[in-house]
Amino acid sequence: MSAQHDDAMLDMVAAYAIGAIDASTGECAVVRAHLAQCATCREEFAVARAATAALGLSAAQAPPATLRDRILVALPARLDQAQARRSRAVPWLVPAAAAAAVIVAAGIWWNTQHQTAQSWAASCVPSAANCHAYGTVSVRGGGVLHVQLQGLAALPAGKQYQAWMIPPGGAPKPEPVFSPDANGGGTVDMQEAPVKGAIVAVTVEKSGGATAPTTKPFLVAKLD
Ligand SMILES: [Zn+2]
Repeated sequence: MSAQHDDAMLDMVAAYAIGAIDASTGECAVVRAHLAQCATCREEFAVARAATAALGLSAAQAPPATLRDRILVALPARLDQAQARRSRAVPWLVPAAAAAAVIVAAGIWWNTQHQTAQSWAASCVPSAANCHAYGTVSVRGGGVLHVQLQGLAALPAGKQYQAWMIPPGGAPKPEPVFSPDANGGGTVDMQEAPVKGAIVAVTVEKSGGATAPTTKPFLVAKLD
């Protein structure tokens, strides 16, 4: 039998995605069985894995000890909170410093016949404190992926937003940096061509950008 879907299960799925569940407890099997029957949790798993990749927490690359420790310490309390508050915030996305957001695709099926009509609505994840960002990711003429955001927080001197393209199963590829305008708007044209299943992510980086993400992604759009 599989466990019923609830918000605690969503958190279990997120924990499972980052390898934070002890295999000896049998909970992994419970999560796997639930994933097989729950589309909502499969979506959560996909986003969690994408964000995990952007954080450099892939299985091929051991997570920083401090970050992993923080996740493992926070998880039991987080699961208790989930039970109590019916919240689905994920512990590993709680921002350490800058307010973080994850932009989640609305789930429009990719159709190469109509690429120019593709767009994905964007919103903050519940765990992103003080996040007011929203916007769209859309395919423009020539197949260029255009990200248009509003509600972006101003950044301190020396910091910029940076976009990333995360191909399915691959490492994040650096994309252009950008700064919000006076109204909190921001746009970026992606260099990589859109690929079904890829993830568009945005982090806060030092001005000029980085070659690999150094902060948690505050924007993730899955190109389904
Ligand atoms: Zn579920």
